[in-house]
Amino acid sequence: TLSDRLAATFKSLRGKGRLSEQDIDATCREIRIALLEADVALPAVRQFVAAVKQRSLGAEVSQALNPAQQVVKIVNEELISILGGQTRRIRFAKRPPTVIMLAGLQGSGKTTLAGKLGHWLKGQGHSPLLVAADLQRPNAVTQLQVVGERAGVAVFAPEPGNATGRTPTDGHSGDPIKVARDSLQHARDKMYDVVVVDTAGRLGIDAELMRQAADIRDAVGPDEILFVVDAMIGQDAVATAQAFLDGVGFDGVVLTKLDGDARGGAALSVAQMTGRQVMFASNGEKLDDFDVFHPDRMASRILGMGDVLSLIEQAERTFDAQQAEQMARKIMGGDQFTLDDFLSQMEQLRKLGSMQKILGMLPGMAEMRQQLNQIDEKEIDRVSAIIRSMTPAERQDPKILNGSRRARIARGSGVSVSAVNNLVERFFEAQKAMRTMTRGGIPGIPGFGPG
Ligand code: GDP
Ligand code: MG
Repeated sequence: TLSDRLAATFKSLRGKGRLSEQDIDATCREIRIALLEADVALPAVRQFVAAVKQRSLGAEVSQALNPAQQVVKIVNEELISILGGQTRRIRFAKRPPTVIMLAGLQGSGKTTLAGKLGHWLKGQGHSPLLVAADLQRPNAVTQLQVVGERAGVAVFAPEPGNATGRTPTDGHSGDPIKVARDSLQHARDKMYDVVVVDTAGRLGIDAELMRQAADIRDAVGPDEILFVVDAMIGQDAVATAQAFLDGVGFDGVVLTKLDGDARGGAALSVAQMTGRQVMFASNGEKLDDFDVFHPDRMASRILGMGDVLSLIEQAERTFDAQQAEQMARKIMGGDQFTLDDFLSQMEQLRKLGSMQKILGMLPGMAEMRQQLNQIDEKEIDRVSAIIRSMTPAERQDPKILNGSRRARIARGSGVSVSAVNNLVERFFEAQKAMRTMTRGGIPGIPGFGPG
């Protein structure tokens, strides 16, 4: 995965404070390989990496992240943005019924999707109607009827046997364009507010198929045309998508079979090359194996490093670079280091402490984890409680803490007076250490540690 690949890069870049062009090139090389391994089409990879490189060159230096991490963060953000940023919802027609047309190759999962969509729409309070406009394949109508029954959603299909040219297997026949058109009137009559039109596919891109799909489109005037694509077809997804874009046009993409071991490169390729967003994702044969598409989750899947990416974000938030910098400036400027500062550092430590379990997953973080292992949560709790029991004046200037004040604080925080004394003692030590400290960075907490 990318995280394995980057581990080496991380190691060599650790400790550097700035993004050099070489750093960026090295990281981009790894990302390029990772994307190709995730089955992203080559032209899409090229475009993408070029965009990432350009953004990285102008990137601001982060306090919390090393250069490789910063590039990965940019990659993640770019991926999410190409995948549409936020989940795109169905645009419902102002005047029902809303018409959703499904298009895609045979076997891509259209009919299965029709059932899932119907089920999902029903769950959202809609009253959907599935339309069997695939009269090509024997059994296609029956398949949709079975799917509809399972989903508890009505199906509009041609009457069996009342037209010429009936297919031998299930007796359905006729003109898919007429069926699609008739379904709209049926929906209006029966108050269905969303119509999902299932269409025929072929095994390959085919002029006849495109013409039929375009004719159905013209007959029903869809509010959304969804291009359904099997994530497993990988590199072929781009050519297929382009053919459907030219032949029929579409507004959104549905990725299916994400339960397979496809890395999801198709999502990036199709989104980048067609400029259309992925709207839904299917990950199984059951009705519930379906969700609206989440660009951020897919970005992580493509990079194959989900947790690492969220860790990077978490690290950024936790370290709160600005806050640390402010603290450093305060200390170096010789300003008074107060118990309030002490408390806020303690809280930062606590945030770090809660990360310690997962930190080991980040390349190059093992060292830090060792330090974090020494943080005693209970001790932080106790110290926080003591400081919170002090008045603002006392926190600002602990020298005023006489015996009676200390006794009051001990009562307020549920500790012994000697625990309060101990803390005050340690704080004075820390304050002294701060005064002698000449270099900044993210300050640790002198005087606070084991023992
Ligand atoms: P259509 O030809 O486009 O209508 O495709 P179908 O809906 O008939 O699906 C083709 C096959 O793929 C069927 O065997 C489905 O059960 C299966 N299928 C559809 N979606 C998924 C999915 O998300 N995951 C898996 N594992 N199988 C799927
Ligand atoms: Mg089908």
